[in-house]
Amino acid sequence: MMFKSKLKEAIICFKAGRVTMPFPLGPELHPPGDGFRGKIEVDMEKCIGCGGCANVCPARLIELSDSETTRIIEYFLKRCTYCGRCAEVCPEDAITMTREYQLATNDNNDLYIRNELYMGTCGRCGRCFKPQSALDKMMVTGFRQKTEGK
Ligand code: SF4
Ligand code: SF4
Repeated sequence: MMFKSKLKEAIICFKAGRVTMPFPLGPELHPPGDGFRGKIEVDMEKCIGCGGCANVCPARLIELSDSETTRIIEYFLKRCTYCGRCAEVCPEDAITMTREYQLATNDNNDLYIRNELYMGTCGRCGRCFKPQSALDKMMVTGFRQKTEGK
């Protein structure tokens, strides 16, 4: 009886054929659809360094640090949960959720983004801001020369 049921089971399995994908070398049988949230991409040209993405990231993987004239934004993407909140809040649409999901890697640098932005500093509150034009940038640089001994 038991042999009969096992035989039946084996026949069913053989009939089903292969159901797995020849991953990762074969063709992608089921590419991600619309609205898929994969690895984030940051457009450095659009970013104004507001820090909005860092504020809302639940995984706290976006780190901001300021030097005198530069704001450094670092993304440690191996902690990303693909929630998409950073892309949602970015006022400049600088962050895109791509369809890239094959992210296994031995190299941490594959999941690391570093953005260095030239910033001016507000004379009143001391916060960094991105100068609007090349002329503004030049003016701010001029005013921010280091004084001897300071
Ligand atoms: S997708 Fe979510 S977890 Fe990933 S960087 Fe953006 S806010 Fe953070
Ligand atoms: S990526 Fe967008 S939200 Fe993040 S700092 Fe740049 S402009 Fe602001």
